[in-house]
Amino acid sequence: MSWQADILTLYPAMFPGPLGESLAGKALASGIWSLNTTDIRQFGLGAHRAVDDTPFGGGAGMVLRADVLDTAIGSIQPNGRPLIALTPRGAPLTQKRVRQLSQGPGIILLCGRFEGIDERLIEARQAEEISIGDYVLSGGEIAALALLDAAIRLLPGVMGAAASAEEESFTASLLEYPHYTRPAVWAGRSVPEILTSGNHQAIAAWRHAEAASITRIRRPDLYAQYIASGANAP
Ligand code: SAH
Repeated sequence: MSWQADILTLYPAMFPGPLGESLAGKALASGIWSLNTTDIRQFGLGAHRAVDDTPFGGGAGMVLRADVLDTAIGSIQPNGRPLIALTPRGAPLTQKRVRQLSQGPGIILLCGRFEGIDERLIEARQAEEISIGDYVLSGGEIAALALLDAAIRLLPGVMGAAASAEEESFTASLLEYPHYTRPAVWAGRSVPEILTSGNHQAIAAWRHAEAASITRIRRPDLYAQYIASGANAP
């Protein structure tokens, strides 16, 4: 059974977009995941297929109508998948949530546009609100692509080396250690000597210390989580 992604959007042509290329594209072609887009406009009202209206209480912009979105969502078989609304007010997306989602049956993603979505739809459908960062995009589609990309690469059979997902950034609340490849000396800069020592244990210890130090400097918030999780500061 493939991991099922359903997207509700006013711009279905944005999908699969970049997810049709590289790892995600190959995985889509081989059926590891499947993609279905639903054009919200198709459920719009009247001759103009209206999907939005002006906000009660006044203010700038338009709001996506609850009734229209509800019919659009109702056209999709949930199959045990969570409904996720992409919104800047949502819980910040984490690698932990991405991993959970990749281990489930798939996702249904609702992409907002204009000023956003009528609150009653989010309540009535108990949508999980997720944000991809503290900045405002013009629509939920790019956020949906980011979330999908992060989840798809964790599906079994998508990434070549399974180990690379275990060591990378955020997996243990740490940012990743620095990488180096050939040439060993480039523009007068050598790679750290320990990496050419062949001592795997020492290399692992060095990488761990680098990861901890980069995290402590760049992301004190993550570092605090790492220490709180019972890890010893190297
Ligand atoms: N008025 C809203 C912003 C609307 S942006 C506010 O101030 O919060 C239009 C749509 O883009 C949103 O409905 C949402 O679906 C999407 N969007 C914008 N920024 C996002 C972010 N950081 N994460 C996830 N979705 C985002």
